[in-house]
Amino acid sequence: MGPEHIAENLNLILARIEAARKGALKPAPFTRLVAVSKMHDTAHIRPALAAGHRLFGESRVQEAQAKWAPLKQEFPDIELHLIGPLQTNKAREAVALFDAIHSVDRPKLAQVLKTECEKVGRAPELLIQVNTGEEPQKAGVAPKDAAAFIAEVRALGLNLRGLMCIPPLDEPPAPHFALLAKLADEADLPYRSMGMSDDFDTAIRYGATHVRVGTAIFGERDYTSV
Ligand SMILES: *Cc1c(COP(=O)(O)O)cnc(C)c1O
Repeated sequence: MGPEHIAENLNLILARIEAARKGALKPAPFTRLVAVSKMHDTAHIRPALAAGHRLFGESRVQEAQAKWAPLKQEFPDIELHLIGPLQTNKAREAVALFDAIHSVDRPKLAQVLKTECEKVGRAPELLIQVNTGEEPQKAGVAPKDAAAFIAEVRALGLNLRGLMCIPPLDEPPAPHFALLAKLADEADLPYRSMGMSDDFDTAIRYGATHVRVGTAIFGERDYTSV
């Protein structure tokens, strides 16, 4: 799929988000579209910017820096969210570049983020990733450990706003979205980052405030070119 369809795809997704919100019994107060541009070059990003979209998600700090530093000069109101795992040695760059980090998943990272936020003088919005499916290969805290980790991050005085999950590929996502919403409710956290290209409508029914959609906007990612 070429860049010529991107603005059209974007508008279609925005319309589907509105429709899903209308159909939801209890939609979140807002649902924002994080357009996931990882693995896509500037030629794919520009049509989305031209269509007026400003909120983008990236998985890797270095890739994001290379692509977005020049674009941020041109479009100062761009908002960037980190949705992939963060290494502590990239925390400073992440704090400097991103407006939100969806993948806080361990005490060591929280402590380093605290230090770097103070050094850099920025406080990105933070979300804790919850491994709702308790998959060994997946990042995130186990649901049973979520409340204690939330308390720990709060005690550090970090800008904690919500929770994020990536449901297992081979299971219906709804129970995972329901669990994430319940954990966020219990902790009185406003953001629920859940739902991707294939399941964002369902996530919205369960109260998603941020849906992270890549393929349905930008097309398939070409992993062979990196
Ligand atoms: C890549 C990615 C997405 C986007 O997935 P699509 O299926 O392309 O919409 C969403 N969330 C995370 C954490 C991702 O890594």
